[in-house]
Amino acid sequence: MNTEQGEASSGSIDGGCTCGRVRYRLTSAPLFVHCCHCRWCQRESGAAFALNAMIESDRVTVLRGEPVCVHTPSNSGKGQDVLRCPDCHVALWSHYAGAGSLISFVRVGTLDAPDRWPPDVHIFAESKQPWLRLSGDAPVMDIYYDRDELWPPESLERWAAMRDRIDAYRRGEQPPAA
Ligand SMILES: [Zn+2]
Ligand SMILES: [Zn+2]
Repeated sequence: MNTEQGEASSGSIDGGCTCGRVRYRLTSAPLFVHCCHCRWCQRESGAAFALNAMIESDRVTVLRGEPVCVHTPSNSGKGQDVLRCPDCHVALWSHYAGAGSLISFVRVGTLDAPDRWPPDVHIFAESKQPWLRLSGDAPVMDIYYDRDELWPPESLERWAAMRDRIDAYRRGEQPPAA
């Protein structure tokens, strides 16, 4: 987890699409950064993996423009909502079925300083492209991992603070506006 580095070097973490119409800001460090090697992420990125920074959606502020939501099939079968620039269509972040719109999976490559957010874990490494050599700095999981084992205490606290809202979402109740 890169909390200290992220918050010490800059007060804000900004990003945007390629054409510049949409700009956004993360108002804190992410909870955790996933490098996903599943075939779905490979197809959607057109590359070997997706790099997603998980963060509470109320910590994602749109500074300019209005992303459009594109419902896209996903590995779980439940689909994901991908927020894209309405002009250049670059994907900025996604919401997955697990926590809905409460949690955003921000595409690290759209941040102005993506180097600051290396993976905290590699997931679905069972389908990792074989030429790719990992540094060994982050745990490598065949499929997924146990949040309690890998997340830093600060992120677990933030997750716990969201727990009631996420449970309500999973029971099918409408989540409050993020
Ligand atoms: Zn754009
Ligand atoms: Zn994936």
